[in-house]
Amino acid sequence: MAKVLLHICCGPCAIYPVSTLREHGYDLMGYFYNPNIHPYTEYLKRKEALEQFAELVQLKVIYDKKYDLKEFLQSISYRETKRCLICYKMRLEAAAHIAKKGKFDYFTTTLLVSRYQKHNLIVEIGEEAGKKYGIPFLYQDFREGFKEGIEISKNMGLYRQQYCGCIYSELERYAPKSVVQEVLKGENN
Ligand code: SF4
Repeated sequence: MAKVLLHICCGPCAIYPVSTLREHGYDLMGYFYNPNIHPYTEYLKRKEALEQFAELVQLKVIYDKKYDLKEFLQSISYRETKRCLICYKMRLEAAAHIAKKGKFDYFTTTLLVSRYQKHNLIVEIGEEAGKKYGIPFLYQDFREGFKEGIEISKNMGLYRQQYCGCIYSELERYAPKSVVQEVLKGENN
């Protein structure tokens, strides 16, 4: 049975990928590494939701001890409008590295389930990270299970976040456009 390391951004997003990958016969292990989730209290809520889900479906998960907040913020500094690329790269390279070290056959990510993420960019970066670390990126378009995952997460009573993760995504979610533009103005891209 092929072993897959599944990078997980949060509990609700893991629901469909875990069920479909298991149906396809893969032996799964989760990996939680998300320095893009701010503030820390939000990070903890998402981590706890994953712990709750993982226990329900008996999924083993590696919880990376590193939060790497400073590294994340420094890496996107002055490149805020390109931050998603940097964010995906940081997380997927970490997953590829762990997958290679742990002798997995493949790695992939729950980010592929969201209709709000930059899907093609995730695929591109996943494949690049796979080449860099010598481990294949397992692509599947999980978006077909996006709605189903949301419904199941509600029934499970899992915490569901209202924004992507970083402080800028929180701003975009809650602030008027004029405030977002003001904050990001003059950015050197
Ligand atoms: S919007 Fe989401 S994917 Fe983009 S940098 Fe922020 S947390 Fe990462």
